[in-house]
Amino acid sequence: MLQIGTGGLGSPFALYLTAAGVGELTIIDNDILDISNLQRQILYNETQIGEAKVKSAKSILNKLNSDVKVNAYRDYVDENSIKKYLKEKHYDFIVDCSDNFKTKFLVNQIAIKNNLKCVIAGIKDFYGQIITINPKISACYHCVFSSIETPSDKSPLPVIGVTPGILGTLEALEVIKTTLGLPNLENKILMVNLIDLRFNIVDIIKNEKCFCSQ
Ligand SMILES: [Zn+2]
Repeated sequence: MLQIGTGGLGSPFALYLTAAGVGELTIIDNDILDISNLQRQILYNETQIGEAKVKSAKSILNKLNSDVKVNAYRDYVDENSIKKYLKEKHYDFIVDCSDNFKTKFLVNQIAIKNNLKCVIAGIKDFYGQIITINPKISACYHCVFSSIETPSDKSPLPVIGVTPGILGTLEALEVIKTTLGLPNLENKILMVNLIDLRFNIVDIIKNEKCFCSQ
């Protein structure tokens, strides 16, 4: 299991996967814990402010379930840096828990190129969406979102703490259900509206012109 990002989405994701006894979890994140993160990044506490998030995450997750091997690397994920992690071992899943579109598209691309099952979630204030990708078979993130203008502003999207809590938990659920062969969000996107408490599933189809179809 390869987890990209260990913030708002990554906190519940890592906690549930570790609690479930995932076997081995590799987490990559470059951030240092700031007090402003604690509103949504429930893996952490006040005593860890100023530490690398991967270091704090590993220590908390090890205490939760010592049977799970947690590999935590402080690194910025880009097209080049990810290569060494992919070479090191075989992963069954890559899961996006990042806070920006650039990384989500990159995680999607890595999943397709390396034939890894993939879950990607995104959030903004009270809204979120989540998709599961089975490379070569189901529609990918790029099939759905390539035509959407991504904000040029590099600052993180505004967020209510509970929103990534719910979407990160759904990411863990998708991994568990996909592993068990249960119905999942392949060729579907789940749109979550936490203001009106609406969960809508939209069917999506693989774009024949997308790179995932080549
Ligand atoms: Zn595609």
